[in-house]
Amino acid sequence: MPNIISAQRALFKSQKTKSVSFRLSLLKTLKTEIQLREQDIYEALKNDFNKPEFESFISEFGLVMSELNSAIKNVKKWSKPERVTSSLLTFPSKDYIYKEPYGNILVIAPWNYPFLLAINPLIMAISAGNTVVLKPSELTINTSKLLTEIIEKVFTSEVVASVEGGVETSTELLAQKWDYIFFTGSVPVGKIVAKAAAKHLTPVTLELGGKSPCIIDDSANLKLVAKRLSWGKFFNGGQTCIAPDYVIIKANIKDKFIELLKAEIVTRYGNNPKESKSFPRIINKKNVLRLKKMLHDSTIVFGGEVDENECYIAPTLIDNPSLNSEVMQDEIFGPILPILSYENETDIESIIWNFEKPLSLYVFSNKKAFIKHIISKYSFGGGVVNDSLIHFGNDKLPFGGVGASGMGSYHGKFGFDTFSHNKSIIKRGNWLDPSMRYAPYKENFGLIKKLFSYFS
Ligand code: NAD
Repeated sequence: MPNIISAQRALFKSQKTKSVSFRLSLLKTLKTEIQLREQDIYEALKNDFNKPEFESFISEFGLVMSELNSAIKNVKKWSKPERVTSSLLTFPSKDYIYKEPYGNILVIAPWNYPFLLAINPLIMAISAGNTVVLKPSELTINTSKLLTEIIEKVFTSEVVASVEGGVETSTELLAQKWDYIFFTGSVPVGKIVAKAAAKHLTPVTLELGGKSPCIIDDSANLKLVAKRLSWGKFFNGGQTCIAPDYVIIKANIKDKFIELLKAEIVTRYGNNPKESKSFPRIINKKNVLRLKKMLHDSTIVFGGEVDENECYIAPTLIDNPSLNSEVMQDEIFGPILPILSYENETDIESIIWNFEKPLSLYVFSNKKAFIKHIISKYSFGGGVVNDSLIHFGNDKLPFGGVGASGMGSYHGKFGFDTFSHNKSIIKRGNWLDPSMRYAPYKENFGLIKKLFSYFS
């Protein structure tokens, strides 16, 4: 580890990574290699948690390809110093924002989208001219091994290195001095990362989680809501940081909605979802047991089957849990959907403000005023009106949390900017040098006051 880090530091100091053509050639080689390994990626994800190939395509391979294409297309433009208008107070001048790579970056990835969430930050860190040490998740053995193979094929370890391992490896990496740390994972580990970063005053992006609510009012098209919501909830087996965690629905339509959701689940996954080729498994037994505990004090109205040996939990609906019940304590991160109801705005408020600021919020409604009110009243990372998850898929939108759900954001240009320091530069013109800022001040004071009030 120390050898890799010192080699990366030396390479960065050599200025090589600042060449845009060097970055472009790395990105293109990475793209070719990932395309070559497409089937291997699907196989690794299947072996890790029975992830269906279709889901692996749209949520891992496809999103990585579009991030890579966007970086290849735009890296030249993004890297150029951006000219901004000069201030009359600094006249005569030309003013710029230079994009400066931070240097040596540590990326720590989670297991739930193990390919996407390791490679996407890496793409942007490289585009911005940094070196990277990636620590993939230890829970997705096959995908992490494949990630290491791809990285070793494309990069020399002085540019990018994959360091596999668990908590001990992560702890050791965090003890080193980095120029930036990009972490995706849970809130408790996010705090550990922030503490380690604080020791060296290292800037961090924390992509965390939380309990993301889904509000449904009685103007929504319930059949469509059931279809879209169950897709967002049960995709990846519910193991998505932005999955709708729980529903808050207008009380008078709750029963009808539960019936529609049940029918929707049967349509998508059959009467026995365990046999469905479209439904993934829980990542490991520890997480199955964690989720199983949430069912103990719950009113299960659908699903509820658990097979610990197969890491299987059926798509499960829970009716009206209390806020003190097990399932309402922490982020669920599995195929269990609690359905709470509301009569009025105060009910919604008392549920949502019971938790930390969530990563996402979804509202299903056809009432413009209601939607506007919800968006402005509650603080959350990002969200969707009348669907779920899809805000992740537009790289023109920054993706990230707020408060306990994270800090910082990425995707597309926002990702490039995350890994770049904005260096402000003024190039002063020499053809004019007004004397009013120079001593003796007394006679210029009145004039300078006037100028400030006029131009600022
Ligand atoms: P995790 O926090 O357990 O692990 C994430 C990474 O941190 C792994 O690489 C792991 O090895 C490392 N790690 C674990 N314990 C550590 C410790 N004590 N010290 C140092 N490093 C440690 O998270 P996870 O279980 O892999 O992922 C699930 C969590 O990630 C959920 O909370 C989910 O919401 C969140 N998540 C967030 C996003 C997002 O973009 N905001 C995306 C995916 C997942």
